[in-house]
Amino acid sequence: MANKDYYEILGVERNATSDEIKSAYRKLAKKYHPDLNPNNAEAAEKFKEVNEAYEVLSDNTKRSNYDQFGNASGPQGFGGGAGFGDGFGGFDFGDIMSNFFGGGFGGNTASRGYRGEDIAVTLNLSFEEAVFGCKKTFNINRVENCSHCKGTGAKDGTAYTTCPECNGQGQVRYTESTIFGRLTRTGICKSCNGTGKKIKTKCEHCNGNGYKKVTATINLDVPAGIDDGQTITMRGNGNAGVRGGANGDLQISVKVAPHKILTRDGYDLVMRLYVPFYTLLLGGKVEIPLARGKTTIDIPENTQSNTTVKLKGKGVKYLNRDTYGNLIVTLISEAPKSLTRSDKDLLKKLRDTMGENNFARYKSYKKDMSNLDK
Ligand SMILES: [Zn+2]
Ligand SMILES: [Zn+2]
Repeated sequence: MANKDYYEILGVERNATSDEIKSAYRKLAKKYHPDLNPNNAEAAEKFKEVNEAYEVLSDNTKRSNYDQFGNASGPQGFGGGAGFGDGFGGFDFGDIMSNFFGGGFGGNTASRGYRGEDIAVTLNLSFEEAVFGCKKTFNINRVENCSHCKGTGAKDGTAYTTCPECNGQGQVRYTESTIFGRLTRTGICKSCNGTGKKIKTKCEHCNGNGYKKVTATINLDVPAGIDDGQTITMRGNGNAGVRGGANGDLQISVKVAPHKILTRDGYDLVMRLYVPFYTLLLGGKVEIPLARGKTTIDIPENTQSNTTVKLKGKGVKYLNRDTYGNLIVTLISEAPKSLTRSDKDLLKKLRDTMGENNFARYKSYKKDMSNLDK
């Protein structure tokens, strides 16, 4: 936390005035405010950073500590370990927002409820399942709103009254003495936890919590063409939102087992196929794998090493499109591991009759080599 550049986060110079800092903060806080960026984890992270930076740079003592020591609390080890994270862990950015915007814009953050957490799982697929798609069923543990009380925690969803502490507002103003002086803050009503309601009789199904931990069964249609490392997001299938906030998402990251022979290059399937050198010269048939099943390709005679053969449409189906990639085979000449005497005699005979004239690229290479000296 201490090595973040708070000036950079707010986009101000190191010698910025407190007005410049305040104005930069207002702009960024509005830009990244959760109310304006629903379900946007990146914006939420920025919002937090911006608030963290402002919390330090708007306070003269903390700012000068930060400038000198790189943290808000002064020299490390001096204050008994009261680093930024410890000293201000309880800092609620909802508070500063409501002070700032006078309870209008953003002022209801505390009582509005918030989005449930995302759940991340890993799904293992075979190579074929990823290429052709499949149906998967698996269980996850998540927090769900109690259906008996509709998340209120009150028996039958009706056994509650308006909270007398906050008159149903869910938030209260209070004055607090801090080391920086007395601050008036708007905060969540602790009596009703921000719900604005007091439970008269607890829902017996969730013990008044309004939510339950459950094991949920997920039925997933894995689309054909998904690749290793990609993530499928099931909106609203994460943990339940709190006080009416949206549910989190279920993030399923896909791990695809490798194929023995084929590898994926986007939607193409590729392979390198080593064949005996004479097969490239004389032609022949070779069996190759498909994503599912096998096929045979014809190698025409006099094929150069490194020639690619493209099997159109035998690759992977594009995600959400009715198009297929190709299967691309690169043919490579393999020399024999060893030669018998009679092999050698035959090859020498071949060399002597064939000569080098028939090898266009080798000929041109030799020409280039002889020209290097000139
Ligand atoms: Zn309940
Ligand atoms: Zn209350």
